[in-house]
Amino acid sequence: MRIVERPNGVRVAEPCACRAQRKAARLIESARIPQRYAHCTLEDYFPNYGGNNPSLNAALVQARNFVKAYPFDTNGNGLLLTGSIGVGKTHLAVGILQSLVSERGAQGLFYDYRDLLKQVQNSYNRSVDETELGILKPVFEAEVLVLDELGANKPTDWVWDTVAHILNTRYNDRRTTIITTNYPNLAPLVAEANSARTAMREETLGDRIGERMRSRLQEMCVVMEMKGQDFRQTVKRASFA
Ligand code: ADP
Repeated sequence: MRIVERPNGVRVAEPCACRAQRKAARLIESARIPQRYAHCTLEDYFPNYGGNNPSLNAALVQARNFVKAYPFDTNGNGLLLTGSIGVGKTHLAVGILQSLVSERGAQGLFYDYRDLLKQVQNSYNRSVDETELGILKPVFEAEVLVLDELGANKPTDWVWDTVAHILNTRYNDRRTTIITTNYPNLAPLVAEANSARTAMREETLGDRIGERMRSRLQEMCVVMEMKGQDFRQTVKRASFA
């Protein structure tokens, strides 16, 4: 608390701004954003690397609008970020999460889809203390969930059932889910599909998580298609000093 003097001369105690900062820091920590992505914010997302990228510009504008509209005008809906590898989907999703937490006081959670499924699978091992529900409860209940790399696991009946359980629970509870995927939401257009490059049909999100769940996502999320070059190959290649 800090003492402030009102215009009428009365001195009162009011919560110090450092409280809100500490609360935001605690919430960011509990969101379990991996170290590799801890730096990702909307402010350091560059939509124009390697030239003018209209879809990346549009994605950034939409991301900012989403944060502004949250939670009342977003009404439990989330975002589905699609696009090829390295185009910045995870960066943008983490940036949105960080803004929702620090500007909107949301409670968030980040999960890599493959890690989540692995943890659930490991919970079936009797020598491990964690139960399936113990792992999934925070995923079901997070106010905002970022699920990164949806569809990355090889599809099996078990994978489909597990992903359906997670998405349906969050859908029924109208909780905000922000998803990234390298798989296209829809199959390429016929003209594109006929080209030699795509002669073998590219797998879609529906192939990876089931058409039913892909369709469910259209109700839960606004789709943002991001097109650009692989940022890692262009700007962020590993190097030694
Ligand atoms: P994707 O999830 O689409 O595969 P990432 O978000 O993981 O791509 O991006 C790969 C790396 O490049 C990350 O370190 C990320 O911070 C960086 N990056 C990608 N796009 C941008 C961008 N537009 N502005 C700044 N950094 C970016």
